[in-house]
Amino acid sequence: MKILVINTGSSSLKYQLIDMQKETVLAKGLCDRIGIDNSFLKHTKAGSDPVVIEKDLINHKVAIKEVINALTDPKIGVISNMNEITAVGHRVVHGGEKYKQSTIIDEKVIAAIRECIELAPLHNPPNIVGIEACQNIMPNVPMVAVFDTAFHQTMPKYAFLYALPYEMYEKYGVRKYGFHGTSHKYVSERTAAFLNKPLEDMKIVTCHLGNGASICAVKNGKSVDTSMGFSPLAGLAMGTRSGTIDPAVVKFLMEKEKMSIKDVDDYLNKKSGVLGISGVSSDFRDIEAAANEGNERAALAMDIFCYRVKKYIGEYSAVMDGVDAVVFTAGIGENNGLVRSKAVKGLEYLGIEIDDEKNQVKGKEMDISASGAKVRTLVIPTNEELAIARETLGLIK
Ligand code: ADP
Repeated sequence: MKILVINTGSSSLKYQLIDMQKETVLAKGLCDRIGIDNSFLKHTKAGSDPVVIEKDLINHKVAIKEVINALTDPKIGVISNMNEITAVGHRVVHGGEKYKQSTIIDEKVIAAIRECIELAPLHNPPNIVGIEACQNIMPNVPMVAVFDTAFHQTMPKYAFLYALPYEMYEKYGVRKYGFHGTSHKYVSERTAAFLNKPLEDMKIVTCHLGNGASICAVKNGKSVDTSMGFSPLAGLAMGTRSGTIDPAVVKFLMEKEKMSIKDVDDYLNKKSGVLGISGVSSDFRDIEAAANEGNERAALAMDIFCYRVKKYIGEYSAVMDGVDAVVFTAGIGENNGLVRSKAVKGLEYLGIEIDDEKNQVKGKEMDISASGAKVRTLVIPTNEELAIARETLGLIK
């Protein structure tokens, strides 16, 4: 059985074709600059070098056609025809309160995803475009929506509600939703498997630290709190996002800098975070290199990032009445030992302590705890595509 996993952005489309028998990636790729000039498809067959195909990808439907062409191509392809694709799993950012789990896509589901556009104006529209383009090209193939928000739907009301007048929740659904749910779920399950313990008995803090970053308290296999909120802007300082700030700053900036609502939104989403503080880059490799060369603001950006990670580890240990494991994942979490060590420094009193040697690890599953530490600290690479493929297979079976 082969599952095609699709992750659509406004002008991009990432895909992976996964053979579920051994859970191996047969091919993966990216269509970029869809609807813009100089669009292209970068396709990689497992074990081969990437091939870049320059094509006029005028819309997502054309892009999907090109993906199918690449997958079935005699040279760079991995299947002989489209009928070998058993199902398609779509990453969908926002499922609102309606979707607590992944679901088979039908007209009603598309309508519900459309209803959530108000909550995720940047993400849900391209997700729908991606689904409809696939349905158009592969009308008889079952499709599944896997929501970023679904895993967090188990948060208790006192954790997800903001202290705003209650009618804003009733009228518009203003509340914390949380994101990266597919990743937090996947790494918490891997953690239990790695430690050979039942997930239902564990208290885990999962730290998904990538360009976008969020932390989740996973108690007995369920998300009980998470750092992102109504939107992915809340919580940690990120590559270019501010994370949580005092909401009064918005009004202040609008008045002082004569910013419009859109200006402030761009400012907080695209110009803030470690990029804004350092003035160097949103990429932690650049931040670390600059800090090592004595750039004080780069060092400060690193400190601010790690300080917030540490605060959430403490906060979520309190929320869960304890912690059994702290897990680092995504680009920074999997690869940046300095971030990991700064984030847990001083938490020995909670039983969290890492081994400096083991903490050198990059990109593979490893227990990096110091010997005798009460809490396991782990590096667990995330794999959202595989998680989506598994959910898809589970539903179509
Ligand atoms: P996204 O949220 O875009 O998926 P990623 O999970 O790829 O982001 O994380 C991007 C961040 O991870 C960057 O700041 C980058 O510095 C860091 N990163 C990714 N790969 C590596 C690596 N091999 N070594 C060190 N840092 C890495």
